[in-house]
Amino acid sequence: MTTYEYRCDGDGALQEAEFPLGSAPQAIACGRCGGEARRVFSAPMVGSSRRDLAAMIGRAEKSRTDPDLATSLPPASGRRRTPTAPLTPALKRLPRP
Ligand SMILES: [Zn+2]
Repeated sequence: MTTYEYRCDGDGALQEAEFPLGSAPQAIACGRCGGEARRVFSAPMVGSSRRDLAAMIGRAEKSRTDPDLATSLPPASGRRRTPTAPLTPALKRLPRP
């Protein structure tokens, strides 16, 4: 079941109704006055959510079908990645990789 929103033409009352996906009628009877309430479209979580949270949700949804893949190695940096042991006499006796 999917929740759809309807706004009454007469008194402007907004109400929600649940129908199976894709089967919502264009208008239903208003729950307050009995008049015709037409279907309205709204974007859920757009107006009330924070911008960074919405971006994170968007990235998570995008990663389901279109994930960001690494296609090349990162550029080599100038410094060595292997740490060097300090020149302490006690540490020189330790095994080295
Ligand atoms: Zn009404």
